Amino acid sequence: MLKVESIQNGIVIDHITAGKGMEIYHLLDLEASGQSVALLQNAKSRKYGTKDLIKIEGTTIPSRLDILGYLDDKITLIYIQNGTVDKKVHPVPPKELKNVIRCQNPRCITSIETDCDHIFRMSSSGKYRCIYCNQEIHMKSHSHSDKSVMIRR
Ligand SMILES: [Zn+2]
Repeated sequence: MLKVESIQNGIVIDHITAGKGMEIYHLLDLEASGQSVALLQNAKSRKYGTKDLIKIEGTTIPSRLDILGYLDDKITLIYIQNGTVDKKVHPVPPKELKNVIRCQNPRCITSIETDCDHIFRMSSSGKYRCIYCNQEIHMKSHSHSDKSVMIRR
């Protein structure tokens, strides 16, 4: 059994919706980080039945951690320092999403240009809009359909 306490310094991404761990692992570019990372799938959770969990060892914080606030609002980030829990936070939805989701507008430049960054900014109403064509994305679509979520390989 993997224990949160078994890391000395690092971050645990807890309460990931079961089955979403691998997607988040890719979206955070964790395979490129060179850090020790453990992905635990279908762990037992008192709150949600089952959950996925990612354990990242080391003091480097993944640069794309803020996108979790968009992907899954149930997630808890647990920061571990010297073997003890330093703080627990819920990620806040970021102002900008870069290469996380695709624009659904078939006439958008990002649908035509393959090397274009997919960038969405949060508008004053709290909705994300494509910076190229202003297409709005529907906040909860990611939890029902994975079609718009980008997995980069
Ligand atoms: Zn667009």
